[in-house]
Amino acid sequence: MHIICCVKQVPDPETPASQFKVDEATKKVLPVPGIDPVADEYAILGVEAALRIREALGEAKITVLCLGPEAARDAVKKALAMGADEGIQLTDGAFEGGDSYATARALAAAIKKLEPFDLVLCGRQAPDWDVGVTPSIIADVLGLPCVTRASEVKVSDGTLQVERVLLDGFETVETSLPAVVSVSNELGEPRYPQLREIMAAAKKPVAVWSAADLGVDASQVGAAGSLLSLDRLYVPVHEAKCEFIEAETPEEAAETLATTLREAKLI
Ligand SMILES: Cc1cc2nc3c(=O)[nH]c(=O)nc-3n(C[C@H](O)[C@H](O)[C@H](O)COP(=O)(O)OP(=O)(O)OC[C@H]3O[C@@H](n4cnc5c(N)ncnc54)[C@H](O)[C@@H]3O)c2cc1C
Repeated sequence: MHIICCVKQVPDPETPASQFKVDEATKKVLPVPGIDPVADEYAILGVEAALRIREALGEAKITVLCLGPEAARDAVKKALAMGADEGIQLTDGAFEGGDSYATARALAAAIKKLEPFDLVLCGRQAPDWDVGVTPSIIADVLGLPCVTRASEVKVSDGTLQVERVLLDGFETVETSLPAVVSVSNELGEPRYPQLREIMAAAKKPVAVWSAADLGVDASQVGAAGSLLSLDRLYVPVHEAKCEFIEAETPEEAAETLATTLREAKLI
């Protein structure tokens, strides 16, 4: 069994809002000094799901796939420290500035190059752009079944059983392999790598592939291959005004407050 886990590196979602900044001119999120990017936690749950499948089956090869800059190696290493076997990093100027479609196309080309594979596991959404469509586009490009928002992923007798999260409960679906699954937080806590595993991960192989290695034309990936254009990237301004009610007595204060709230159509 060969499982491919797509893991993305994202700005740390715990970054204080006061420090989160974007460059409106270049339409980029600015790195915050002293706060390193992290592996996308939903994608890390995909790695956890892969490890649970391996434990249940007794054996499986787990490959981590990440499209991102050189520094995204840390996200790959985190998945390797959890127990994945090897990493592939898609790093090339040609991949930069891609929308979900262009990103998914590059990931799909790499997945094809990694054939034979049985299962592709992703996170349900990356906590930076939160588009949540990359797994479905990968499945579409590869012509594979796709199951989204999984809370449990099992493989038995060559068939995939997935428990899905619905708005009002869960449903269980079954499909053939190979397939693409996106994993939700209801899967539970991912394992926390120990120091020994972190050190072992440093010795696991990580290959770096360019667009040419994937056999894709640079015009099909990154900004050139994108279907969306980004008009504006900005941090919304939230304004809060505080008005003090002046009054001689509590009754007068309550009356003025009630009148003010009614005028503001809040009561
Ligand atoms: C015009 C435009 C320009 C953009 N330019 C940039 C840019 O310069 N830099 C940038 O970082 N983003 C850029 N983005 C955002 C970029 O398109 C998204 O980060 C990317 O398409 C994935 O979408 P998402 O983050 O919402 O992932 P989702 O679809 O929410 O991700 C779901 C899952 O898919 C997998 N996945 C997603 N992306 C990757 C990846 N890169 N590697 C491995 N697995 C992955 C993970 O398992 C993840 O949990 C741009 C978007 C647009 C529209």
